[in-house]
Amino acid sequence: MRQKIAAANWKMNLTYQQAEKLLEELIATPHELKENHLAIFAVPFPYLQLANSKLGGKKNVFVAAQNCYSKKSGAYTGEVSVEMLTSMNIQYVILGHSERREYFNESNQLLADKINICLENNIRPIFCCGEPLNIREANTQNDFVGKQLQESLYHLSAEQLQQIVIAYEPIWAIGTGKTASSEQAQEMHAFIRQQLAAKYGNDVAENISILYGGSVKGSNAAELFSQKDVDGGLVGGASLNAGEFVTIINSLK
Ligand code: PEP
Repeated sequence: MRQKIAAANWKMNLTYQQAEKLLEELIATPHELKENHLAIFAVPFPYLQLANSKLGGKKNVFVAAQNCYSKKSGAYTGEVSVEMLTSMNIQYVILGHSERREYFNESNQLLADKINICLENNIRPIFCCGEPLNIREANTQNDFVGKQLQESLYHLSAEQLQQIVIAYEPIWAIGTGKTASSEQAQEMHAFIRQQLAAKYGNDVAENISILYGGSVKGSNAAELFSQKDVDGGLVGGASLNAGEFVTIINSLK
């Protein structure tokens, strides 16, 4: 059975004290995680240990990093290796977020390298893809997203691909309050699944969780998650509010 996932992306927000308060509020807010439901919290690096100490060991709850470097170790000042993450028991990392692609020039090839080192170290990447507004307006979003998948993922074996969570995040919907309609989300998710099926076969494609990201909130999560190929959400702004995020968790189908 496919995993349904509510993933929080705190981005570069909150002080240590605010992070601690949010984690405590999250723990105190009743939420329901069924057998195939996961809640993942991608917190800033300095808060990984804190999040682990508050959430670690809770059933179907994981702490994630928001990035990692493509090299094993060495003279890369300011970077964080996967070995550092695994030594802290971190099992997921977001890769290819559009903010990293745009502000830090992360290419599909660099992301392929990051994915490789994660998989070699048993860390599961949450691989983000998605088109900017001009591409959507030109109606060429399928080609654009197809190329992102091809250049960053298609070198993987079927077994490796099954370790990946995909997050489709149309850039025009991230942090803008403008959510893709559930039909637009479903259409792209179905396209992604078809592409994976063509390359890896139906059984593999059916097992991959494809999350939607872009202004998901408590009020629209249930409608988005009701779509056949939408397996949950990657959530920025609304994940900074415990009540909102727990509503999103409870909206997983
Ligand atoms: C994100 O950060 O991945 C995201 C989708 O942000 P938001 O929910 O704020 O649009």
